[in-house]
Amino acid sequence: MAFQHMIESERCKGCGLCVEFCPKKVLEITKIVNAKGHFPAYQARPEDCIHCTMCCIICPDVAIQIKEIKEETAD
Ligand code: SF4
Ligand code: SF4
Repeated sequence: MAFQHMIESERCKGCGLCVEFCPKKVLEITKIVNAKGHFPAYQARPEDCIHCTMCCIICPDVAIQIKEIKEETAD
């Protein structure tokens, strides 16, 4: 099963909670400002993400989503 981890950078206020709580230290804060003047989080080490959803739960702005991606199956 494959998952896609998405951060809506325009919703993010760069509070750093997700960075702090990620058990795999996947997330960091960018140095690039968004339209609201915040520095959003991004996946610095996506290969380490275990899709635990901790960052989605902890984010006060509901800026992070994990979606299941349908994998192609050879029949
Ligand atoms: S889903 Fe879990 S491992 Fe992946 S970035 Fe969020 S908190 Fe970290
Ligand atoms: S917890 Fe949410 S608002 Fe805070 S840095 Fe992470 S994605 Fe942005």
